[in-house]
Amino acid sequence: MKDQNNFYFWQIIAQFNILMKSAIEGPNCIDPKICRGDCCSIKIDVPKILAEEYIKRGYANRRDFIRSNIFTFQLRFNEKTGKCFLFDKEINGCLIHKSGIKPPQCWIYPTGFSNPNNNDISCKKSSGWKIINIVKAKEAEELLQKYIFLCNIEAKKEFRLIRERLGYKDSRNSKLKFKLLKEELMSIAPSHLGGFKDLWDRISVLSAEGISLQIKKFCFVHNSKCNFLSDNFLS
Ligand code: SF4
Ligand code: SF4
Repeated sequence: MKDQNNFYFWQIIAQFNILMKSAIEGPNCIDPKICRGDCCSIKIDVPKILAEEYIKRGYANRRDFIRSNIFTFQLRFNEKTGKCFLFDKEINGCLIHKSGIKPPQCWIYPTGFSNPNNNDISCKKSSGWKIINIVKAKEAEELLQKYIFLCNIEAKKEFRLIRERLGYKDSRNSKLKFKLLKEELMSIAPSHLGGFKDLWDRISVLSAEGISLQIKKFCFVHNSKCNFLSDNFLS
């Protein structure tokens, strides 16, 4: 996202956070007697612009984001805690809850944006959730659609940028990035190639810990008579 879209994006996400904060009410999630972040065991997709801002503000580093198939990135899932990496054990809650730029998806559970039949709303751990300002919740719902629209634009641009990193664009930069990738590929034994990683501005190789069985399989399928394969695959 660049320029004008950036400007709209920050307006939208900030306004969305403000609206939802005052539109809903519920139990104190950070009270350990009530909950221990039980709804943070999810994988949230965010756009790159947000990922970059989390890094800039010190909440995250690049390794905390993985490529996603919806928006551009997904927040890393911490296998040890079984939660999103932004769950902070010290505060027993979300590290970016008060940042003003929490991902919109995280505000929606459990109330959603409306409760026309005035049902009791409960989350995984507690009842007592309410929408206390219907107008603001409605406004937030509309903003969410704009947020999704801008994220989709960014994802399409990012896809084009990935093609550029692979040398598909007719530009010096694109060819240079591909040349670098090729050089890296030539310098690594196939047995140690685990895959590829996106360094955000270029694609690089991912070395395998031990033997890359995927590549071995690939070589067998595509060139089973390769001289290097049978007796010297591991070198
Ligand atoms: S919404 Fe419910 S499940 Fe989620 S953190 Fe709060 S109390 Fe826990
Ligand atoms: S960003 Fe915060 S609220 Fe959302 S899943 Fe991660 S820790 Fe939970």
